[in-house]
Amino acid sequence: MRVFVTGGAGFIGSNLVDTLIAQGHTVTVYDNLSSGRKEFLTAHLHSPHLTLKEADLLQPAALTKTMEGHNLVVHLAANPYVRLGETQTDLDLTQGTIATHNVLEAMRHNHIHDIIYSSSSVVYGETTGSLLSESYGPTLPISLYGAGKLGGEGLLSAYAGTFGLRCWIYRFANIVGRHGTHGVIVDFITKLNTNPHTLEILGDGRQCKPYLYVTDCVNGMLHGYTHSHDQVNLYNLSCTTTTTVTRIAEMVVEEMGLSSVKFAYTGGDRGWKGDVPRFQLDPNAMNTLGWTATYTSDEAVRKAIRDTLDANL
Ligand code: NAD
Repeated sequence: MRVFVTGGAGFIGSNLVDTLIAQGHTVTVYDNLSSGRKEFLTAHLHSPHLTLKEADLLQPAALTKTMEGHNLVVHLAANPYVRLGETQTDLDLTQGTIATHNVLEAMRHNHIHDIIYSSSSVVYGETTGSLLSESYGPTLPISLYGAGKLGGEGLLSAYAGTFGLRCWIYRFANIVGRHGTHGVIVDFITKLNTNPHTLEILGDGRQCKPYLYVTDCVNGMLHGYTHSHDQVNLYNLSCTTTTTVTRIAEMVVEEMGLSSVKFAYTGGDRGWKGDVPRFQLDPNAMNTLGWTATYTSDEAVRKAIRDTLDANL
């Protein structure tokens, strides 16, 4: 298969590229390297199975031309930082919804029918703490990032209804692991490298979310693609367990070999405006397809902490 991966030089994308090439597929990565890194693809840069196109999704002509001849599009490129919407209010509209529209138009021009899309748990918005299944609604995000993701989901569904596209929409838990460049684990390690005595923790530390290891995320996306055959396939991608922010801080301290670190909480029930502090995703629909996460949330976090320390980012 010829697979076109937007954001393929990023954290999740580069792990996906490793798996696709190991499975014998030919991959084109389309990435502007804004948060991705060329070195994440080092193993394949001289391989005939990888083409890296450094370009932006907001350049429709380049996008349409580069996409020609592919069978499947995996659309991962987006602004990955939920918090940025607070200060850059058009970011998730342009890098999320409009960029997704450009991808869909390029597919339409090239007669490509299949797309995998990375959505997020944040589309559910502030919920009552119940286990969230895909049928939960109404979906009312509280961050501009979430609105951008939900806009993308709507466009995929509309292109399916209007142009016969087939889509696999995954609402990810928090993804952690090798090549991770952002998020709570990287944040804590960076802070403790600067000051090993006191760790600032945003919120009250009781924020509690599911963390999924990146290889589970990649395998889940591909498993769903090969095992579900509706026109619009919508799945949560998550483990069944959760981890609190304070527990993550404790694990980081342990893995860094530190002791007597003071936790300084900034207070309030969440890290920032637009953060959903507590949720649990129901992975039953994916489990029914035959996929389950290999690692629990705590195991994924610990493994990701070790990956990050090893990489010395
Ligand atoms: P990432 O920042 O590592 O990867 C995004 C990639 O897209 C980067 O390589 C970046 O350079 C590229 N990119 C961004 N804007 C682009 C543009 N306009 N044109 C071309 N390339 C562009 O982030 P990630 O964590 O790997 O996330 C991948 C996808 O999964 C994103 O859509 C993100 O919103 C989604 N997601 C991630 C998580 C998580 O916990 N990491 C959770 C839910 C959803």
